[in-house]
Amino acid sequence: SSSETTVDETIQQRIAKHPCYSEEAHHHYARMHVAVAPACNIQCNYCNRKYDCANESRPGVVSELLTPEEAAHKVLVIAGKIPQMTVLGIAGPGDPLANPKHTFRTFELIAEKAPDIKLCLSTNGLMLPDYIDQIKQLNIDHVTLTINMVDPEIGVKIYPWIRYNRKRYTGIEAAKILHERQMESLEALKAADILCKVNSVMIPGINDQHLPEVNRVIREKGAFLHNIMPLISAPEHGTYFGLNGQRGPTPKELKAVQDQCSGNMKMMRHCRQCRADAVGLLGEDRSQEFTKDKFLDMEPEYNL
Ligand code: SF4
Ligand code: SF4
Repeated sequence: SSSETTVDETIQQRIAKHPCYSEEAHHHYARMHVAVAPACNIQCNYCNRKYDCANESRPGVVSELLTPEEAAHKVLVIAGKIPQMTVLGIAGPGDPLANPKHTFRTFELIAEKAPDIKLCLSTNGLMLPDYIDQIKQLNIDHVTLTINMVDPEIGVKIYPWIRYNRKRYTGIEAAKILHERQMESLEALKAADILCKVNSVMIPGINDQHLPEVNRVIREKGAFLHNIMPLISAPEHGTYFGLNGQRGPTPKELKAVQDQCSGNMKMMRHCRQCRADAVGLLGEDRSQEFTKDKFLDMEPEYNL
């Protein structure tokens, strides 16, 4: 809408081929995710570890885990077959920075063999400040942080525990650490001039009223795009805040919150909540053409 912030030209160029960052690009350019990151360092109440990270992903689909070498092979095969493939993302199925060796090894292999492919990373932000130099060095130009609150009192209702510096924290202490690290992450990305998208999962009765405040804070700290996504309530997908279940927002409730924030910064409204091994244009998932039993038999464009 006209009230949304207009984006300056250099940023326009940087996002022109990223289907998530640019609404226009999503008709022409494809992205793929590789599932190399199984572990997570926090617990979200809406997550079920059997499935992909619910922060980005659709519930109920389990992605095949790959080693970095398998992932690189897959990327090179697909880059040869789908010429619109411009972006490689690592988004799960756990938190990519809770699996730093696998995640960075995968990025390194791609940067070396297919330097034209843009690299993209999604994380809850707990460990990002520790890896900002590596992220910068690898030219990772797009990072998505999932930030569901900027108030630890609300955080306690979303995160029962985190694991940080080899220690498990619970309650308000856990929520405070996560919040502080997420704020540091925003600042570090801004300082490194890396484009940051923030995902927020809208959870009715928990953080729905609070999301405009999240929007205000992330904008102040330099995030570029805000993606408010609905909690998807499905019985197979998680603990849902207790016995009676937690509903997701209605499309109308979601739109109302998005509209409330849209005067302040660019809002993403075309997110498809992709699986951790998604392949293709947004909304056109071709992951089943490239399962492990298939892609391992295909020739990559370059030899690893
Ligand atoms: Fe699950 Fe993702 Fe939350 Fe980790 S960050 S607990 S994988 S939803
Ligand atoms: Fe893009 Fe949303 Fe899919 Fe992530 S989940 S790749 S932001 S469309």
